[in-house]
Amino acid sequence: MMAGMNRRSFMQMGLTAGAAAMAPRWMMAQAAKAADPVGQMRAAGASTPIKTTKLYDNLYLLQGAGGNMAAQIGPDGKLLIDSSFATAVPKIREALAALSNDPASTLINTHWHIDHTDGNEGMHAAGFTIYAHQMTRERLATPQTMKMMGFSLPAAPAGALPMLTFDRSMHLWHNGDSLNLEHFDPAHTDTDIYIHFHKADVLHVGDIWFNGMYPFIDEGTGGTIGGMIEADKKALAIAGPGTKIIPGHGPLGTKAQLQQFHDMLAAVHDKVAALKSAGASEQEVVAKKPTAAFDATWAKGMMNGDAFTGIVYRTI
Ligand SMILES: [Zn+2]
Ligand SMILES: [Zn+2]
Repeated sequence: MMAGMNRRSFMQMGLTAGAAAMAPRWMMAQAAKAADPVGQMRAAGASTPIKTTKLYDNLYLLQGAGGNMAAQIGPDGKLLIDSSFATAVPKIREALAALSNDPASTLINTHWHIDHTDGNEGMHAAGFTIYAHQMTRERLATPQTMKMMGFSLPAAPAGALPMLTFDRSMHLWHNGDSLNLEHFDPAHTDTDIYIHFHKADVLHVGDIWFNGMYPFIDEGTGGTIGGMIEADKKALAIAGPGTKIIPGHGPLGTKAQLQQFHDMLAAVHDKVAALKSAGASEQEVVAKKPTAAFDATWAKGMMNGDAFTGIVYRTI
């Protein structure tokens, strides 16, 4: 049970009209029914079409259920970022087949969460070699509990585990582009990386950015509000004014939009930190509504102001 909020209110979150327009479908499905959240998410993976958007000559954004994906094509083979839910794999393969006849090559995971890695086993079986931060492999290889989300996950099957892992950073030259993969210090989880396509000027930052909504921060696997703010600062330092930035959730974004998100996180952090350091309990801080000035703009995803305040309080 979360302090300051009961489980029922968490599950009822995000069911306003605004939320319906903004929230990824799996999140909505999960909020609507608590009985089998993983089954609900996977059902969304099976039914949600994948939308393909061209970002550069050989680079595309793929959006369906789960986290935002990217696909690069070319003679070195197809490179995919994140794999959504296992049930979405047939749709992902169709979307990739529609882009080119290049063979399967590389799948990169931005972090360990199920909405970004559940399709790993299926994509690996289709010929993709999986790359990720070493902690992504460690977390996938062992059972995990998402306390706030209300579910546990068994260890992933062997075919789902990344085969090439790194600690701080690595570099890939692939299909004529130069890619930097670098670990963020613990932020949304302790497994987060970014992938920067230099030539295409595209930056996939995973779930350190929920574009246009309060983020979920996974305090159970190393996430903190301070780490999120630092990770967003790092991404802002890498991005140029024209960089296309792929958030983990929400629409494709710009550096200016990422800056707004960062500034909102920093403002909420400072308000909650001041109350906490003055001795207020989590329930007292939530009752003071420190996000009130931000809710109209940002309480559009899975998190309302109270839930977000609770995470911020607990991770300061
Ligand atoms: Zn996600
Ligand atoms: Zn995530």
